[in-house]
Amino acid sequence: MNICVIGVGYVGLVTGACFAEFGIKVTCVDNDREKITGLQQGKIPIYEPGLEELVLKNIRENRLQFTGNLEEGVKHSLVIFIAVGTPSDKEGRADLRYVKEVAEAIGRTMDGYKIIVTKSTVPVGTGHLISRIVRQHQKKKHPFDIVSNPEFLREGSALEDFMHPNRVVIGAESDQAVAIMKDLYSPLYLIETPFVITGVETAEMIKYASNAFLATKISFINEMANICERVGADVHQVARGMGLDQRIGPKFLHPGPGFGGSCFPKDTQAIVQLAQSLDYEFEIVKAVLKVNQRQKQIMVDKIVTVTGPLKGKTLGVLGLTFKPNTDDIREAPALTIIKKLVALGARIQTYDPAGMPEARKVLKKVAFKEDLYGAGQGAEALILITEWNQFRNIDWGRMKGLLKRPVVIDLRNMYDPVKMHKQGITYHSVGRPTIE
Ligand code: NAD
Repeated sequence: MNICVIGVGYVGLVTGACFAEFGIKVTCVDNDREKITGLQQGKIPIYEPGLEELVLKNIRENRLQFTGNLEEGVKHSLVIFIAVGTPSDKEGRADLRYVKEVAEAIGRTMDGYKIIVTKSTVPVGTGHLISRIVRQHQKKKHPFDIVSNPEFLREGSALEDFMHPNRVVIGAESDQAVAIMKDLYSPLYLIETPFVITGVETAEMIKYASNAFLATKISFINEMANICERVGADVHQVARGMGLDQRIGPKFLHPGPGFGGSCFPKDTQAIVQLAQSLDYEFEIVKAVLKVNQRQKQIMVDKIVTVTGPLKGKTLGVLGLTFKPNTDDIREAPALTIIKKLVALGARIQTYDPAGMPEARKVLKKVAFKEDLYGAGQGAEALILITEWNQFRNIDWGRMKGLLKRPVVIDLRNMYDPVKMHKQGITYHSVGRPTIE
């Protein structure tokens, strides 16, 4: 079977490479010429562990190709995945501009029966919208099916998530489309991945419901951490005690500076906006968003409480990406926190293993360092914002020698407070008592 993936970003490139690995012939299409030219030369535009090897292997084995020509991709494919971005518009709704563009182009170029699948996260009703657009732009009336197949991969472990998902959601109205989709995903069927087969609207909603719920868990534990700090309790033990209850579960109960990334902030806003457009206030998720905003300010306040007024002071910051193992800085808490610290007069010197090229474009008045020790040189305090593995085994003896004061403010609770205390470091974290 031949398929086409339109939009070669974090989701599209992973989807294309993984289906190619399943033995399917995949054409990936993007309107970013530079990206396509690079990929045709084997240059991978993003950092995602294992992706480069997988892409290069499948190019070599002639199952994966890249083009800027959408018509070429559509004509040769039975299944067309739409994986373009759906960023927030000014009001926080999902901006469907790219999805609509692609739907028009598919309509214009299709030459026979096609299954048009949305992998992009799109609000309920988008399947019907795509169907209307395709029909309006067809030169000849070819039959087609619309499928919603939301993607749940996480950046940083995207290949593993795609190859071993907790479930595959397929929203479709026709048996033929479901059968072809199941065929595409047959390697996952063989490893007994649960398939959730629904209507298109329900599948679209599952994605928003999942992201809104996960974001809720994060904001919940962040609030818990803030209260723990006030009463002297340890949020990690609280989370463990809660998480062992099987009705709650242990995942996503790790406190920190708030959620970021290209999905949770925009998808929570989009579901709030969707509900509002239907005359319903989604109060829980509105509170989740408010708590998430406040959490970043609470982190800034925590830093100021430890260091005193920031004017003219140098702070070292480790980690810029919204999570480890990615170069993605979209909505990263580090950016907001750094901008606030700079506004308060701090001089920031920072290091991130993969996020610095993108961060340089948006962070002005910040010094980017060659390594993590450079971030600590002469700093009043070292602040950890993203929990990269590279930061787990810092030589604290060396770091102490570089820092102006031996103060570490860990916004991801990466380190053991007792061990840090024994190293002679004044250590502050989130929702855990500080050892004096
Ligand atoms: P991205 O911004 O990394 O990639 C989108 C790509 O689409 C870009 O390369 C862009 O050039 C291309 N594009 C835009 N308009 C196009 C057009 N008209 N024709 C061809 N290509 C076009 O986005 P992403 O992070 O991969 O996200 C894609 C979708 O998947 C979004 O809806 C997102 O919410 C969803 N999603 C993302 C993740 C994630 O972790 N990134 C996870 C699950 C779902």
